[in-house]
Amino acid sequence: MNTSETRYVSQQVIEDACEWAIMHGVAFRQADNTARHCPFSIVPMTIERDVYEHLKTVTPLIAKLISHVSEDHDFLQTSLSELAEADAFFGRLMELHREVHGDIINRIPPARQPLLLMRTDFMDDRKHGARVIEFNGIAAGMAPFGQRATELHQFIKTQWGSVYQDWLEDEHAIPADNVGMEQLALGIATAAKKVKAHFNEEGTPTFLMVVQKNEGNVYDQHLLEIELQKLDVRTVRRTFEQLSSKLSSGERQRLVLEDIGGVDVVYLRAGYQYMDYFSPELNEPICCQALSQTRLFMEKHHVAMNATISQQLATSKSMQMLLTMMPASEYLRWGLNPKEAELVKSVLADMKPINTDSIKWFAASGNKDEWVLKNQGEGGGHCIFGEDISKQLSRLPKEQYNAWALMQRLHPHERDKPTIAVRDGQQTLVNDLVSEIGLFTVHYKGEPVTELDGYAGYLIRSKPASENEGGIHSGKGILDSLVLVD
Ligand code: ADP
Ligand code: MG
Repeated sequence: MNTSETRYVSQQVIEDACEWAIMHGVAFRQADNTARHCPFSIVPMTIERDVYEHLKTVTPLIAKLISHVSEDHDFLQTSLSELAEADAFFGRLMELHREVHGDIINRIPPARQPLLLMRTDFMDDRKHGARVIEFNGIAAGMAPFGQRATELHQFIKTQWGSVYQDWLEDEHAIPADNVGMEQLALGIATAAKKVKAHFNEEGTPTFLMVVQKNEGNVYDQHLLEIELQKLDVRTVRRTFEQLSSKLSSGERQRLVLEDIGGVDVVYLRAGYQYMDYFSPELNEPICCQALSQTRLFMEKHHVAMNATISQQLATSKSMQMLLTMMPASEYLRWGLNPKEAELVKSVLADMKPINTDSIKWFAASGNKDEWVLKNQGEGGGHCIFGEDISKQLSRLPKEQYNAWALMQRLHPHERDKPTIAVRDGQQTLVNDLVSEIGLFTVHYKGEPVTELDGYAGYLIRSKPASENEGGIHSGKGILDSLVLVD
């Protein structure tokens, strides 16, 4: 039997939910400009209230640590120098970083004002408890979809109560509030207004989102823009290429965009891969020079900036490994007290650098199911699992060792009850659903700027345990939300 044609709940429920999703922007743009709803689960995942509260406490502390690390420019340069040699893209970022912070003698801080919009992703490992998968400091999107998924499940609960109860793991579970979209917008608007006030200007501040050309994930971005507009912020979208000849400097290092005026916030939804800086029309002798200079130009202005080059370096997988390997006491120099440092340390999963010794160790006694091999890439497709780890390690050229790391593989609880996944209007039954829990935080110049002490909301992406990576856009990932049990 073709499972995609089996109906576990009435097609009317599925149609209702899919139409709700499209109506509320929970969709991807396709090449022909039509919209396709994001895949989603029909009911939320269950998490223990204690675990959820713990993550809500520890995630703003991680953001605090990253805020400080990303302003420790000497540390970034010294600790990531080997990465710069092993990974060309990071090498370029490190050069840009030196250009921004080059005035070491006079210690003149760069003009940009760091706005850290971060999503810290966790998996709740069966044995070890919740551990960080990765930090996302650049283009950390999907807070709007996270909030919408919670609302979608609420809609199903209200409209189709018996279906909801039938498929929920625990009938007493209570939905976990999620206002990620609103809190993210609030944090951004707060920073925008501060920058505007710095220039003694009246009126509506301007938010610039730097996007990729022909991007498919536009509705998540638009939802955030709409929320910002409600807070009286003007929003504009441009690619790096569009910006390259349109930016100029106003008085007192004001960033000025042609036909728009002063820019208060820059938010990068592009810039984490070489392609984002590549323009065939520019015909450059050295790849990506012009557009990376555009990014650099913005950092030399008084504008709230996410992500700064420093933040991008501080949230890299290499930095995650370095922070994981150092004792918690070292975090004290970055503004944490001993208790906070221990808390952060307790959610970091083991990581090992790649070198001749670790390759030998893995060949001799590494368990392929307990490790993941990953490089510095972002956005999916850079992780290696199982049998492929040894193969990759054996053919890895020495010069690239420092671009890779081994990370303890997390094995989250599988859902006790089967769940219905809805994709392209079709329902399928998933027996082994596992979830990745992303928590958003917003800090401006190191200070929390949400109503929840820096915490902003969550994004749940679930996938069958048998799938390695759970991207929503491509792959087997589905949008999900949380219910709490005591
Ligand atoms: P990115 O999202 O930047 O491509 P991630 O580190 O988030 O990189 O890895 C992509 C996906 O691979 C994750 O969403 C998760 O599904 C899986 N994954 C990564 N690291 C681990 C790990 N340590 N244990 C289990 N799964 C992992
Ligand atoms: Mg990820």
